[in-house]
Amino acid sequence: MSVAFISHSDCGRHDTGWGHPEHVGRIRAITRALREHPELLTTLEHIESRHASEDEIALMHERRYIDTVREIARAGGGALDADTVASEGSWDAARAGAGALLDGVDFAMTGRGKRAFCAVRPPGHHALADRAMGFCLFGNVAIAARYSQRRHQLARVLIVDWDVHHGNGTQALVENDANIHFVSMHQWPWYPGTGPAEDRGPHQNVWNVPMAHGLPPQRYVEAMTRAIDDASQGFTPDLVLISAGFDSLRGDPLGGFTLEIEHVVALTRALVERADTWCEGRIVSALEGGYAPERVAEACVAHMGALF
Ligand SMILES: [Zn+2]
Repeated sequence: MSVAFISHSDCGRHDTGWGHPEHVGRIRAITRALREHPELLTTLEHIESRHASEDEIALMHERRYIDTVREIARAGGGALDADTVASEGSWDAARAGAGALLDGVDFAMTGRGKRAFCAVRPPGHHALADRAMGFCLFGNVAIAARYSQRRHQLARVLIVDWDVHHGNGTQALVENDANIHFVSMHQWPWYPGTGPAEDRGPHQNVWNVPMAHGLPPQRYVEAMTRAIDDASQGFTPDLVLISAGFDSLRGDPLGGFTLEIEHVVALTRALVERADTWCEGRIVSALEGGYAPERVAEACVAHMGALF
């Protein structure tokens, strides 16, 4: 069984500055941590991601917005929203980030392996169809969901988002498709302010799990697992996508959840077990938030280990 580690050096060209929490050091920490685990490092299949095409990004985003991102980057960079910036390299970074997930889907669907982790930035789950938001440019996971339906004719996709923030962008991009079920557990009340439990989407295909900060970690694991089971009641996914935000770890500067590495492993294993019965084990996971780089890296290593 092979698990892919998918990334691209262009993800390091999204230059937000070292004062920004979503800085390039986050991915560097992951590759550094991987080198400290040579057994895992050599077992993983390493894939340098392709760049998503504009047509692929347009599966979920408006052409005018895609043009805006490309042109701002071409002009040397600028602000996209209050806390989201683009640099000259951001166009290539964002296309490589989305492309990594598409490669992950292809990897899982063509039988080369079953599961992949994509170490990408900028993250994606706050991005909307027509604008950037919350450090996110393009909705990587949502694009991958639609791509898997179009390219591989998958009927049903489950997206699980354990980032400490509500995946408002992902919800907005997928909630009109009843064949995509979206589960998001997030701190409440917290940025971006969306995602109450009663917001189930127009097709009842959204499971929002708002949680208080500072609870015992097992409470988060249980709530998430319960929501995953609810979301898969009478709905057998053909593919599981994970928005793996590691700002849900204890001590993250942008979140108040209390997960430890063991809980990341528990959540990963819970999904692997279920995916094995649903869809031959197919899971594509992608980095979202997580702003204590060493902790994020440790979690990524444990997460990838648990994907085997
Ligand atoms: Zn987050």
